[in-house]
Amino acid sequence: MDTTALRQLPSVDRLLSHPGAPALIAVYGRPLMVEALRAVLDTTREGARHSAPIPADDLLIEQARRTLEEWLAPTLQRVINATGVIIHTNLGRAPLSTSTVRAISEAASGYSTLEYDLESGKRGSRSLHAEGLITRLTGAEAALVVNNCASAVLLTLTALAGPAPDHPTGRGVLISRGQLIEIGGGFRVPDVMRQSGAQLVEVGTTNRTHRHDYEQAIQPDAALIFRAHRSNFALVGFTTEPDLNELVTLAHVHGLLCVDDLGSGALLDTTPFGLAAEPLVQESIRAGADVVMFSGDKLLGGPQAGILAGRAAIIERLKRHPLARAVRADKLCLSGLAATLTHYLVGDALEQIPVWRMIAESVTPIRGRARRWARSLNRAGLSCKVIDGESTVGGGSLPGTALPTALLSIEHPAPDRMAAGLRHEAVPVIVRIEDDRLVIDPRTVLPGDEPLLLASLRRLAL
Ligand SMILES: *Cc1c(COP(=O)(O)O)cnc(C)c1O
Repeated sequence: MDTTALRQLPSVDRLLSHPGAPALIAVYGRPLMVEALRAVLDTTREGARHSAPIPADDLLIEQARRTLEEWLAPTLQRVINATGVIIHTNLGRAPLSTSTVRAISEAASGYSTLEYDLESGKRGSRSLHAEGLITRLTGAEAALVVNNCASAVLLTLTALAGPAPDHPTGRGVLISRGQLIEIGGGFRVPDVMRQSGAQLVEVGTTNRTHRHDYEQAIQPDAALIFRAHRSNFALVGFTTEPDLNELVTLAHVHGLLCVDDLGSGALLDTTPFGLAAEPLVQESIRAGADVVMFSGDKLLGGPQAGILAGRAAIIERLKRHPLARAVRADKLCLSGLAATLTHYLVGDALEQIPVWRMIAESVTPIRGRARRWARSLNRAGLSCKVIDGESTVGGGSLPGTALPTALLSIEHPAPDRMAAGLRHEAVPVIVRIEDDRLVIDPRTVLPGDEPLLLASLRRLAL
């Protein structure tokens, strides 16, 4: 070891009095600056032990600046979604409407009537804010908003079939073997069932489950029939399953409840856009399900939330359960959800909710944008053409169905490298690679992101 070199290592104090230090201290604060300098000096000391020269103080300050930037770089960054997957779970699912963002911002930046009644000047109810809109839209008697649909399922199973003084080991929940699904992110229906303390009663077979299978499986301690929408996969071929009307009748004849986990749950019909039919919340309510559950940030197009709608007496039981307090929605969620639901009520959801605007957009304007981008990028030296392709809805809904789209297809000697380059832009761009070409679907690129996207592509063309 070269101890003379180590003796040249500056002290933290010396670096703090370097002329470059005050600017960094002003931005990051002194304690963090000291920590960064220590980290830089540790690395330098380690290098010196292996005979690396000790950098000048200027350079050490520069290293501290880079270290501080790295430590504080936000990990949750805005990105441009050019993948054509509209509800992309990894990219944060639904972008929000302008009025939803405004409502959330207002609720976030000040005080609010979250649990305050202006008439009486006393405590009010947080359940007021979105629930009236939900019942009006779905026809349900009552509603409850929780954190997400997974917690809605957990709450429902725990409150209606979990261990209770009269059933210490939990009650039976009947579910078809064709519905023992995994949604992703580790959400598996059988695991949630176990966590709730309810007793899972598997019914029928993977592909075929009949009404009499359910009838035979009903035991005295059974509490409910659970239907889970398969969401992210399709069962085709030699299959059968009772529909929700039949399940509701069966459940009620035997004194059981029937609950329907819709997952995405749409309030608008998806078929006019050439998509398969995603089950409508209103239909499940009309079929008589006692509780229907769905997400706020899938096809609803709002903030993350789990929405429970159903019979007043049952929703009341859910509200009173201690778990309801643990999974309750916060003011940001409730204000945003109310604003999103309002679009459905006043009939401007297709124009104002980004997810629905993207679903509803026809291929002609998309092709127009792709052509315009291709012309501009070809001039910048890229090799682009416009090809036919498909966008998907994503978010664990409508598996196997797609929307026709026009793609900007870019030829590049190393498309993977270009895709990586795009991910490292100041606002990262996420693209698809198909047949060794980089493809960009204008459908999911938000209007305001177009200039940034084109600038990034032009930069990488050089
Ligand atoms: C997506 C989904 C869930 C989970 O919803 P989150 O809002 O992501 O918690 C539950 N059940 C089904 C059927 C789903 O599709």
